Amino acid sequence: MTRKAFKYRLYPTQPQQKDLERTLSLCRHLYNAALQERRDAYKKAGRTVGFYEQKRYLPEIRAELPEYKHIHSQVLQNVIERVDKAFQGFFRRVKAGQKAGYPRFKGQGRYDSFTFPQAGTTGVKLQEGGKRALLHGIGSVKMKLHRPLEGRLKTATLKREGDDWYIVFVCEVEPQPLPENQEAIGIDMGTNPHFLVTSEGEMVEAPRYFQKAQAKLARTQRSVTKKQRGSNRRRKLKMRLARQHRKIANQRKDFHHKVARRLVNNYGTIVHEDLNILGLARSRTAKGVQDAGWAQFLQILAYKAEEAGRRVVGVDPKHTSQDCPVCGHREKKPLWVREFTCPACGASLHRDVAAAINVLARSGRVPDRRWARTEPSGMGTAWAVP
Ligand SMILES: [Zn+2]
Repeated sequence: MTRKAFKYRLYPTQPQQKDLERTLSLCRHLYNAALQERRDAYKKAGRTVGFYEQKRYLPEIRAELPEYKHIHSQVLQNVIERVDKAFQGFFRRVKAGQKAGYPRFKGQGRYDSFTFPQAGTTGVKLQEGGKRALLHGIGSVKMKLHRPLEGRLKTATLKREGDDWYIVFVCEVEPQPLPENQEAIGIDMGTNPHFLVTSEGEMVEAPRYFQKAQAKLARTQRSVTKKQRGSNRRRKLKMRLARQHRKIANQRKDFHHKVARRLVNNYGTIVHEDLNILGLARSRTAKGVQDAGWAQFLQILAYKAEEAGRRVVGVDPKHTSQDCPVCGHREKKPLWVREFTCPACGASLHRDVAAAINVLARSGRVPDRRWARTEPSGMGTAWAVP
């Protein structure tokens, strides 16, 4: 069984929006109180207060503070669980000798979700075939079911993004393996404007609307700095800026999903440069690794591959952009040289295609050398993403 997340936009009425905000705020206060208790116990008595101990207070809190009565008990338990997780992460990092910041109090605006951990059985109910969600303590909220929900519902998280509300359902779904596929492909993180380049000479361009949206973002950013600090206009512009940021992030994610889907559908094995090693091996900021969101893409790719029974392999990227994919001759070239020509054997092809072929070869697969032609025409073809 694998878990799959489904995110839908909610359209709460104004009173419902107030209730959602209030629930969020109460959860945040509880979070901070639970954190405080753990800190105090630790500082004063060197004692650790655990999850179960804190969970036991919840009925008392609900009895004494009537505002908490309207919140589902499991939503509150989940808050305690979040505190527990924060501490576990902290202790784990300390133990591993890593830099570990003590779990922090959440300020307003730093706490943006609450969860029904057993939404499948209690707290949340879908109504009218998914047009509405009945939420405990909030009511029946209109929902946009832009794609069908699948599998068995496990958890539901209410999430605030700016002024908008979303619900994220996590469901357990049967993995659906795709038919066996012997094809393997290597991918290289492309240089602008390419998002990625494959060992078969295909080049995926980053969608143009990113650039447009980036330009718009820059304009908004400039006007924000022109407005007076603390002014209403500045506040409004900042909200618009945050909205634009979210929109770009969503578009990027959507693009990543489409590219990953296409790779997983067509290839049994997908070989890429290992990002962790890449980060250590050389600074690839020139390639815009951060900007293109490669880490997110590889996560989505790995997840889709697992679901489909495909293989994703990360290899050491060292020298992949310097080696000749035909004869193995190694020569360092400046990044701006886009045409790879080998002084030893005369092979000539696009630099990033050469790198992608090398990436594929690193996995032990023998690459198809169609693209490593000796005449300078193998500059690759455009690969349109639907
Ligand atoms: Zn060569």
